[in-house]
Amino acid sequence: MRHVTILGAGLTGPLLALYLARRGYRVDVYEGRPDFRVHGFAGGRSINLALSDRGIRGLAEARADEQVLADAIPMKGRMIHGLDGETTLQPYSRSGRHINSISRGGLNITLVNAAEEHEDVHFHFDHHCTNVDLDRNVVAFRQGGEAGEEVEREFDLLFGADGANSALRQAMEREVDGFTAETEWLSHGYKELEIPPGPDGAFMMEKNALHIWPHHDFMMIALPNPDATFTCTLFAPMEGENGFDSIESDDDIRTYFATHFPDALPLMPTLLEDWKANPTSRLGTLYCNQWVVSDRAALIGDAAHAIVPFYGQGMNACFEDCRVLNDILQENGDDAWDETLREYFRRRKPDGDAIARLAVMNFLEMRSKVVDEKFLRKKKIDAALADLFPDRWAPLYEMVTFSHLRYSEALEQSRRQDARLEEIGYDEVEQAIEAGPDEVERVVFGG
Ligand code: FAD
Repeated sequence: MRHVTILGAGLTGPLLALYLARRGYRVDVYEGRPDFRVHGFAGGRSINLALSDRGIRGLAEARADEQVLADAIPMKGRMIHGLDGETTLQPYSRSGRHINSISRGGLNITLVNAAEEHEDVHFHFDHHCTNVDLDRNVVAFRQGGEAGEEVEREFDLLFGADGANSALRQAMEREVDGFTAETEWLSHGYKELEIPPGPDGAFMMEKNALHIWPHHDFMMIALPNPDATFTCTLFAPMEGENGFDSIESDDDIRTYFATHFPDALPLMPTLLEDWKANPTSRLGTLYCNQWVVSDRAALIGDAAHAIVPFYGQGMNACFEDCRVLNDILQENGDDAWDETLREYFRRRKPDGDAIARLAVMNFLEMRSKVVDEKFLRKKKIDAALADLFPDRWAPLYEMVTFSHLRYSEALEQSRRQDARLEEIGYDEVEQAIEAGPDEVERVVFGG
């Protein structure tokens, strides 16, 4: 099988095309939107994204990392904003490692261009998939907008990289026995807003940080862009106290920001316009019990495991999917797609589930725990233990963001570590750290 069809030219589709083209496959990628390199992006989800080590490795192995990183803005830590305007930087790593703010549109264009450099990769924009027939191996598209013509294409192997509302997944729900897909919706939604540059074109806050205004049940974050703007995202309950439904008039908007984000408000001159122009969107986690159909079809990226954005890992996980699939192909050769897809699901499903859970947990951390004394104390203990015994202890954030340990193993290790700390008690662990490595060995590791 040397021909692959991919649905979706978002972030996952073009990277997958790149990996497959480098192995000698002919690849056709069908995308519902018009070519965004010509027509631009019609708004929608986050303008910028946090890219970290897993995503970078996925890009690097397909040789697509250099240009992406050239346009990235390093973020060294979380800048916590207090109600009094005080800010505190909480570094992401003990060794100064950082994550990167990158433009979603810029990244999408870079990936499409990089894939298209291969003569065997063809993008078909303005092709909205309306149906997948898994019995006949046929995909139907509406070509050229709402009133467009219907066309059908046969496929040998089909990847659904068509995001959270995947057309392939809908076909699997209809046609594959025992297939289930469930979305767990959060009661919170989000809205994007903006902090423009200052009059001299300068950043109005620290450029190299991810800014957070934590308020327990809700929060705002801001990521820097190369044009010196910040994209702010307000995450709040859809309903109830401090929820989106309680903010209706211009006065409500101004009062909400003056009360909860007083240092940000003067930096947001277009707040009212942005609030009205930008949608309030919902957030959910998608769990599917199967991702593949023999050697004929597979879900990849958000189509298989869309998650909430609080760990900044959704796209990183998608890129890791592509890399792992490529590793398995490397191991199995190109004539055993049945086995390759089975193994891809077997390896990636536990990791998709783990990062989904971690992402929900991190929402609590970002909006609340970052100002919680017990959490900050534990963070210090974790860091000290990892400094003393780097092979035996690691902070969860660092395992997820700066390592290539499987997400499921990172989650498991952090649970073991947390249970051990609770069992011993923070006081005793702190005393052991004070006394030195031998005492830590005895108290924490039972040596
Ligand atoms: P998508 O990006 O959804 O792309 C799917 C593509 O398929 C689209 O181009 C779409 O037009 C096309 N398509 C859909 N249906 C059809 C159809 N029927 N026919 C043809 N084409 C179709 N991840 C991070 O790693 N870091 C972050 O900081 C981060 N921040 C985020 C913030 C927010 C608010 C959100 C919502 C997500 C964030 N993510 C982040 C997650 C990240 O956006 C996704 O994981 C990533 O976009 C998934 O890529 P994808 O290509 O699988 O899906």
